[in-house]
Amino acid sequence: MATLAYGTSSGSPPDPPSRPDNCPPDVEQLGRATWTFLHTTAAYYPNKPSPAQRANMLNLLHSLPILYPCSWCALHLGQEMKVHPPDVSNRARLSRWLCERHNDVNVRLGKEVFDCGKTDERWKDGPPDGSCD
Ligand SMILES: Cc1cc2nc3c(=O)[nH]c(=O)nc-3n(C[C@H](O)[C@H](O)[C@H](O)COP(=O)(O)OP(=O)(O)OC[C@H]3O[C@@H](n4cnc5c(N)ncnc54)[C@H](O)[C@@H]3O)c2cc1C
Repeated sequence: MATLAYGTSSGSPPDPPSRPDNCPPDVEQLGRATWTFLHTTAAYYPNKPSPAQRANMLNLLHSLPILYPCSWCALHLGQEMKVHPPDVSNRARLSRWLCERHNDVNVRLGKEVFDCGKTDERWKDGPPDGSCD
């Protein structure tokens, strides 16, 4: 019997059924949303942060290993943060630190390592061809 949801005319295997949009996030959706928030926040962090801005950013980052609602993600992040303490001294350094922590996870999950020289292009400026303008 043909079905609208999974039927293909090519004979290739059907895609897995997608979950409805109003389901609670799984680890991957939560991860994508969190990385988007963190990288974008770092991309707009000041070049010369005030002591209060530095302190608030440190609070935000140090809260993740305690509050992030994926226990093994939080555990690994906490371990990495002990070895590589957050650098909140300016925008470029924070963006680089965050990129490296994201790459820690990418490597652990067998994903491609991101070029940290392209952090601004990905999270702030968009590609030079203007396709995101
Ligand atoms: C703190 C934290 C810890 C996590 N730990 C785990 C874990 O232990 N196990 C687990 O299964 N999942 C973990 N996750 C989720 C995981 O990192 C991914 O978010 C999830 O697997 C979805 O991956 P994705 O391939 O869609 O892209 P994501 O890894 O979510 O990346 C989103 C986008 O960010 C860009 N990007 C990729 N790498 C970088 C980088 N280094 N710097 C800047 N931009 C980049 C890419 O354009 C990519 O499309 C964690 C998430 C967070 C926020």
